[in-house]
Amino acid sequence: MSKVVMVSTEDIFRGDSLIDRLELLWNHEEVNLNDWIEPNEIVLIKTHFGSRNQTRHLRPMYIRKIVDLVRKAEGIPWVAEGVGLGWDEANKEYTMSNGPGFLNIGNQNGFNSGSMNAPVIMDDGVIGTEVFRINNENGKYIKEVAVAMGLKIADKILIVSRFKGHDGAGFGGALKQLGIGCVGKEGKGGAHFGGGHNIHIKNPDNCTGCGKCIRICPTQCLSLDENNKIVHDADNCIACLICFSKCHYGIKPEEMDEKQVFARKKRVPSIEQIERMMDNAGGVVKGVGKDRLRYINIAIDITSHCDCATAGGNLLVPDLGIFYSEDPIAIDQVCVDLVTKSPGMPKSPAETGIRAPMGNIEPNLEAMEAGKEKLGLFSVWVDEESRPLVTETQLSSAYEQGIGSREYELVDLTPKKE
Ligand code: SF4
Ligand code: SF4
Repeated sequence: MSKVVMVSTEDIFRGDSLIDRLELLWNHEEVNLNDWIEPNEIVLIKTHFGSRNQTRHLRPMYIRKIVDLVRKAEGIPWVAEGVGLGWDEANKEYTMSNGPGFLNIGNQNGFNSGSMNAPVIMDDGVIGTEVFRINNENGKYIKEVAVAMGLKIADKILIVSRFKGHDGAGFGGALKQLGIGCVGKEGKGGAHFGGGHNIHIKNPDNCTGCGKCIRICPTQCLSLDENNKIVHDADNCIACLICFSKCHYGIKPEEMDEKQVFARKKRVPSIEQIERMMDNAGGVVKGVGKDRLRYINIAIDITSHCDCATAGGNLLVPDLGIFYSEDPIAIDQVCVDLVTKSPGMPKSPAETGIRAPMGNIEPNLEAMEAGKEKLGLFSVWVDEESRPLVTETQLSSAYEQGIGSREYELVDLTPKKE
């Protein structure tokens, strides 16, 4: 059984705020992060900057407060994000899929060195390939995990997540950060697409031999044959998708099949994606070490969409509060249980179709048919049978990785009304 400590959003009135309650939680003896951080240690605060025009991402003021608290504990704070998949050629300036582009989004969304009073970094480099490798024999699919290099360099790592839904992976916070947020492009590609063998040269005859994809490929697994046509070495491909942009850019969607040079098979089945993500999570915890990791879930602005989606969307359930644990499973399990018990908010997917992603309440198939995009939690990416199971699979697969407990003791530090 693991301890989870929380402060709720209830009864906040003048002279009190969730930021004050965050400090109360931080300093409480049940948490005691001040002793965990030793003087002059680098504390990497891994969070999500949100995507471009995302209006529900974590408010930067929570991270700024954590920066201030790290400094008070005599640590050296670094605020960090990791590069997303692919390479968004159409929007080079504000894109999650390269480091500078994601820093630009962070800047737009309020995460910059000025607002944070700390360095703001990409923990896996300019293109998400700065990683260290960890063997994870417990991995069901991914046995070698590419962990973001920043997690090796820092002394301590605080994983700070907005707890929310995700189109493909269901509800989560700490575990999704470990399984996707803390791995390089390779880990993200491995989870979504099953690795390099799912990347194909679809129409080699369309290759003009320009060499742009060869230059950008981080593993040198592309080359030209004697006819000046592209050749792909799947064994060395990490499914980062950077090459795609060099041939996809400018192709109209209706011409994609005919004109695109690169293609990938569809995503791996939904449940397998989540198991792969938890293989990554197991590798990250193993590679970094449990003692260097701590978790904060900020369960406010809970939508069915993740920070990685531009859709903000109506809030699904009322705000819950801020949670802390040394155990990434227990902290997510508490939040999932509380979301499941919470009443749905009017005009949200909770009302229009889905009350809970855990599967203990059946999704409303009729509503789902009526508005698939709106009900992002169960988007067309997730096959129908898997929809009620995705969150449960996250928790059970993480448990199989041996990185925590699903049993918890919840300590509520919320100041009580006189
Ligand atoms: S596959 Fe595309 S980007 Fe690569 S060499 Fe051929 S035309 Fe150029
Ligand atoms: S061939 Fe593979 S490793 Fe190279 S850029 Fe494309 S997806 Fe990435």
